[in-house]
Amino acid sequence: MLFCDTCKNTMVRKIVRNKGKEYIYYICSTYKSDKNKCTNHRIRDKALRKTVLAVLKKQINLIVELDELLNHIEKMPMDNTTYGKVDRRIVAKMKELEKYNNLRAGLYGDFKAGVITKSDYMEMKKDFEIRCNEIEKQILELESRAKELIKSKGKSAWITNFTNNKNITEITRSIIVSLVEKIVVVDKKKIIIHFRFQDEYKDAIEYVESILQRSESKDTKNKLKNINNKFENIKGGV
Ligand SMILES: [Zn+2]
Repeated sequence: MLFCDTCKNTMVRKIVRNKGKEYIYYICSTYKSDKNKCTNHRIRDKALRKTVLAVLKKQINLIVELDELLNHIEKMPMDNTTYGKVDRRIVAKMKELEKYNNLRAGLYGDFKAGVITKSDYMEMKKDFEIRCNEIEKQILELESRAKELIKSKGKSAWITNFTNNKNITEITRSIIVSLVEKIVVVDKKKIIIHFRFQDEYKDAIEYVESILQRSESKDTKNKLKNINNKFENIKGGV
């Protein structure tokens, strides 16, 4: 879990007793076995815990905000929330529907102008109506699929892993194991924390971004303005 930034080896725990007091440190294991091969990278357990807690809280807060965005998206009307492949298929179907609606609308004019006979007109009108009904049904199916996709995205377990810990006041072994991939010690003042679920986090951010870009209705755009600002903060803070 805890690694030296220079040699990439693990850090080991060291207890120093001085004047009846006990101090816990971590030092590079390479250094411990051969002082010429690395430097000590010594960091106090207390300082390490304090820094990890502060960074973890920051990360949890970002994910709480991300979770709020996802919950908001889930409640948004369907026309703004379709996603990826399903979304492109819906757009294509919408275009197809528009085409048939236009053709259907033009039929009456053709009939009046004598371009087609009355029976042709009736038959073609019926055909177009059937086609339009089919396409409308397909669109509804695609929309409900898109909704499922959003649901499964928004309620991801990894998010709960973080948001459940939003009130943490101290670092415990179980919190670290569930949220942190590894901690790299650069020196006693600098550590780098690699969080778990980074891919999922990036996916969720991309997803939110794509939804916000896709938003077409003015009303929703206004509603999203604040969230968009929040989202910029999330990106800036990571
Ligand atoms: Zn080292």
